[in-house]
Formats: sequence, structure tokens, C-alpha cells
Amino acid sequence: MRDIMDRRTFIRVSVAAGAAALLPAAARSLATRSDDDLKKGLIEAMKAKGAYDVRIADPHGFKQALPVPNPFKVGPPLTIWPECRSVVVVIVPYPPVLDNHLPVEQREAQLKNGSAGLAADGASAVFNVYHPLSVRVMSQALPAGARFLGLHGFKAMTSAGGLQVQGKLAAYESGLGVYGRSGLILHRELGNRMVILTLMTNAELEPDSPDVFETGCDGCGRCVSTCRGNAYGAKAKYPPSYTVTACGQSRNEVLMNEGGLCQNCFVNCPAARMTDKALTAWLEARV
Ligand code: SF4
Ligand code: SF4
Repeated sequence: MRDIMDRRTFIRVSVAAGAAALLPAAARSLATRSDDDLKKGLIEAMKAKGAYDVRIADPHGFKQALPVPNPFKVGPPLTIWPECRSVVVVIVPYPPVLDNHLPVEQREAQLKNGSAGLAADGASAVFNVYHPLSVRVMSQALPAGARFLGLHGFKAMTSAGGLQVQGKLAAYESGLGVYGRSGLILHRELGNRMVILTLMTNAELEPDSPDVFETGCDGCGRCVSTCRGNAYGAKAKYPPSYTVTACGQSRNEVLMNEGGLCQNCFVNCPAARMTDKALTAWLEARV
């Protein structure tokens, strides 16, 4: 029977494996690079392993972070880990995997024939809504960053005390995207077709700033019209437009009755400039 690993555990295990590969002697000899070189080197190391983009968020920002405790087990970086000096924010392209209009048997067939949800070793099903190529890139890009920082004498961690940085907020703070009507972060090129990962480090890296741009949301509204749970108000913008409990209830119903997760707001969003086929090809070239 395949192991089921949730996203949080999967990322923590992957990063721990990357950090474990450190050589103490190399760490001492390389710990002298300038802050600029360190940031450039970190970005290069992660992009070489498939990260689409990497930016840095200032842990002193995050004024909109949810107060702790909260059901999502997230919090401001400095509350999670007071030693944190930078939040490394990484995005990996993510084409949709499952068509939630498919009958259950077809989704199960996708899983059985390996077209959805298999980890790089083929042994674990990792949160099966993730594209397998995205999972493979995630499992190599984030540990590469942790390893690079470790080689330069710095700590890196994805969570502490069971808390993580809010990925969407980190992406906004670092300028990787802006909130769309659905509440998903929209990147200038990838739209919502991305997974956001974060790494806290005690390295002082020059922070990037929010990069606010106009989305096409005002003339679109597909997330509102295709939402099965009526989770969006018709006029307001995110966050007041979105009711998380309505979404959760609807997703549970879809899961119980149809055996899959609702992805309507994700799948139907047209904000990406690259097609899902092109995103898949992009990922294929990096694994
Ligand atoms: S579906 Fe349309 S309105 Fe909703 S987030 Fe995407 S672009 Fe914006
Ligand atoms: S996941 Fe489904 S129910 Fe939740 S907001 Fe998106 S479309 Fe609506």
C-alpha cells in the first residue's frame, strides 16, 4: 500500500534531506560571500533545480498575517522563529492534474496509471491534486536552497513549532504576485498555475518588495460563476469576497459524493500567459 504524505510533511522531509547532505568543512570555507552574492547564488541554485522564480520577503512585514493560533497552523515568520532574518519564497509551475468534472473511476484510473500524484520514487502518493512533475521539482528545488544556505553556515527551515509562513502572503510580500478575485495569487506570467513554497533562514538577504499590477479580474469573474459552493460574493474583492467555510463545506461534499477535490476556481482561471501544455513541457525539461 502506498504511503500518503501531506504537503507539509513532504516538504519538511525533503528539506531535511537536503540539509543533511551538508559538508561541515565546505560550510566553513564558503561562509564568507557577500550578502548580494549569497542571494544571487541561492537563486541560481534553486533555479538550477527547477524553481521558476525565487524572491525574498522581509520577515518584519507580514502585517496581514493571521494571528496565532489559527486552524491553518500558519503565522508571522518572527513569531514562528524569532531568529528568522529572511523568508525565501519559491514558485514552481503547476498545471492542473484532475478534472473535477471527471467521474470518480476516471480520476482513480489517472492515479493508477501514474498520471497523477506519484512522488519521484514512485512509492508515495503525495497529496494527489498535485501534478507529479510539480512534485518532483518541489522535491529538488527547496532542498537545493536549504543545502546552499547550509553550505554557507546558515540555518533554513520550512516550519517550527508546527507553524508555517502563509505562502500566499509571502508571495505577495516578495512581489511574486497579487491577489486575484478568487484569493489565489496571480503571477504576471504563470497566473495561478503555481505552487508557492517558503523557507525561513537566519541569513540576511536583501528583501524584494510587493509588485502590484492590474489583473484581468474585473472583466472575468469565472471563479465566481463556476464556484460550486457559492463561496464568492458577486461584487466584493478578495479577501471579503471569499467565505472559507462555504468553500470547505462544498469541497467536503464533493469529496464525499464524487471522490475528488473541487478545483473549479483554480482550473477555470484564465490568468496564466502560458498554456497548461507549455507549463508541463517546461517542467518536463527540468526533471
Ligand atoms: S478566474 Fe478570473 S476573476 Fe477569478 S481570479 Fe482568475 S482572472 Fe481573476
Ligand atoms: S475550491 Fe471549489 S468550492 Fe472552493 S472556492 Fe474554489 S470553486 Fe468554490
